[in-house]
Amino acid sequence: MLGGGFAGAYVARLLGERGATIVSPENFMLFTPLLPEAASGTLEPRHTVVPLRAMCPHAELLLGSATAIDIEARTASVATDGGDYRVRWDELVLALGAVPRTMPVPGLAEHGLSFKTLDEAIHLRNHVLRELESADAELDDGARRERLTFVFVGAGYAGVEALAELSDLADDAVRYYPRLRDVPRRWVLVDAAPKILPEIPSRLGDYAAQELAGRGVEIHVGTTLESVSDREVVLGDGTRIPARTLVWTAGVRPNPLLRELGVPLDDRGRVEVDEFLRVRGHEHVWSLGDCARVPNTRADHPDPPTCQHALRQARQLAKNIVGHPQPYGYRMLGQVATLGRYKGIADVLGVRLRGFPGWFVTRSYHLYQLPLLPRKLRVVVDWTVALFFRRDIVELSILGHPHGLEDDG
Ligand SMILES: Cc1cc2nc3c(=O)[nH]c(=O)nc-3n(C[C@H](O)[C@H](O)[C@H](O)COP(=O)(O)OP(=O)(O)OC[C@H]3O[C@@H](n4cnc5c(N)ncnc54)[C@H](O)[C@@H]3O)c2cc1C
Repeated sequence: MLGGGFAGAYVARLLGERGATIVSPENFMLFTPLLPEAASGTLEPRHTVVPLRAMCPHAELLLGSATAIDIEARTASVATDGGDYRVRWDELVLALGAVPRTMPVPGLAEHGLSFKTLDEAIHLRNHVLRELESADAELDDGARRERLTFVFVGAGYAGVEALAELSDLADDAVRYYPRLRDVPRRWVLVDAAPKILPEIPSRLGDYAAQELAGRGVEIHVGTTLESVSDREVVLGDGTRIPARTLVWTAGVRPNPLLRELGVPLDDRGRVEVDEFLRVRGHEHVWSLGDCARVPNTRADHPDPPTCQHALRQARQLAKNIVGHPQPYGYRMLGQVATLGRYKGIADVLGVRLRGFPGWFVTRSYHLYQLPLLPRKLRVVVDWTVALFFRRDIVELSILGHPHGLEDDG
């Protein structure tokens, strides 16, 4: 199993006692639907990941990164802290996921923040809290406003949920900053598409837009990012926004390593698989998740890059590897999203919910999907504690960067 993300970890778990070897740079699976709540501090970051060794007790874990495969010799090359290895396989699963898709926008690489991994989510939380601290210390009113302006480019799940959670965090935190109470905070959401949350049926996407606009979020759709500097964001429609924070959540592209593996790829760089999730032309190589173009026999288009599809694909792939392969097909039962603390939208089996009921359904669904009872309980405890206590506003960017020992001799 190359990759221990949503897709790879579930295949390994479902293979059970038949065993598997997972090659992964981390020893955990990130449960991305909970990532925005790690960023806002509602959830303890460790509770949004699942240890692979506990989730897949019958699998071996090799902590490292795949660098190449040899399909003839049936081996994979893996770079680890302890050196490079060649691992032999009988069946190979490519579950290498995706990476943020960037554009050649001036200033984006230098000034844009990404929101895809746990360290990026925690960095963003610390960044927002630091900007509040810096704004509090600023004497110049214009500079204060710049520090309290946050621009998110990309209004899919990641961008909308992260903006909603972080703006809630800033609203709650500001009670501790009396000098900032009257300084306007500006949250801006930008997307090239004509509406936000294009994956969600219109009514719910529209509700999300209304809800965010009601909170004062500025929404710019049908426009792109033109340039960004350390003090200003410029949009394609000519809008100039004095801001020091730009979060880039405008989609993903398949893992670039795939281009070096000698497997067939489509025009977007995704692995081409057949209806059994087998890589075209290679009997013992399989692929799924965000890195593959997966045809769905129960839909008229290939699967979108979501957890719920990766999970259904994993179920079929685990069966196909060990038994008589059956075609993959999955009809979506609904779509859900959160819009900050205790607010959400859900469309499940034709029933549409918003506000607290929407949040409750969204979170119940994710809790049901989250593997391991102890993990579920930790998350429920975090949510319960958040009901009764104010948000924690400590900024912990010092974590993981110890100063080390100093020579006093
Ligand atoms: C912020 C955010 C929020 C999201 N929210 C939702 C949501 O609410 N609902 C939903 O359905 N979907 C959501 N998604 C999408 C969802 O996370 C993905 O569709 C899902 O994770 C895809 O699973 P995957 O295993 O293909 O990829 P990933 O989960 O990304 O896993 C890929 C794995 O491959 C590993 N890897 C990379 N390179 C190598 C290498 N060289 N060797 C070995 N391993 C490697 C990575 O470390 C990673 O663990 C969200 C995504 C993001 C970023």
